Amino acid sequence: MEKPSEKCVTETSGHLYIISAPSGAGKTTLVRMLLEGDPNIHLSVSCTTRAPRKGEAYGREYCFTSEADFLERAGRGEFLEWAKVHKHYYGTSKSWIDIENGAGHDVLLEIDWQGARQVRKIFPDAIGIFILPPSIETLRERLIGRGTDTESEIGLRIEAARDEMRHVGEFDYVIINADLPRAFREISTIIDASRLQYATQRQRHARLFSALL
Ligand code: 5GP
Repeated sequence: MEKPSEKCVTETSGHLYIISAPSGAGKTTLVRMLLEGDPNIHLSVSCTTRAPRKGEAYGREYCFTSEADFLERAGRGEFLEWAKVHKHYYGTSKSWIDIENGAGHDVLLEIDWQGARQVRKIFPDAIGIFILPPSIETLRERLIGRGTDTESEIGLRIEAARDEMRHVGEFDYVIINADLPRAFREISTIIDASRLQYATQRQRHARLFSALL
């Protein structure tokens, strides 16, 4: 009898999640909730040339560095992707991703649409999730409430948010963050579903599959 065709089972079973959103959409809060509830998801800590905000620590939110150092590292090909966002450079460490990938871990990248495009070219199976605010007013209120930006910076961030949101169609999933518990449920559903894909299950439960099939 002919063997049924199979979807390719890759070497590692880890997934790569890309989460993008305009500032103020609630991305950081959702990511924090995800990481707290799921130690199997590893967050990539990007490198940036922007100055640390109050409460941010080197190596936790970002690896903060100078523009000269960033560009030198970019030139050496140390970033999986990098982009200029709001006048500053941001990049994802290539060596960190290689190690995590090799270990089969689930990895989460919190990056902008330009970075997402570059990553998708290298990892076409990456799962893109875009978070939208329920309205521009909510976005503005959240940015003001955060208290980290001046009025003119908020204006710039709203403009940048509109630019970012124009790329929502390049992502696989969209979450409208009007209600945090609901948005969290939705993002968790996406992650749960990705882990139930055939290739992942086949690899994670190799013994069960050979016993059953
Ligand atoms: P913030 O300065 O508010 O932390 O981040 C500003 C923007 O930079 C956000 O849209 C965030 O997703 C993006 N960003 C953070 N890290 C990276 C990165 O490594 N690569 C790219 N392309 N964007 C990033």
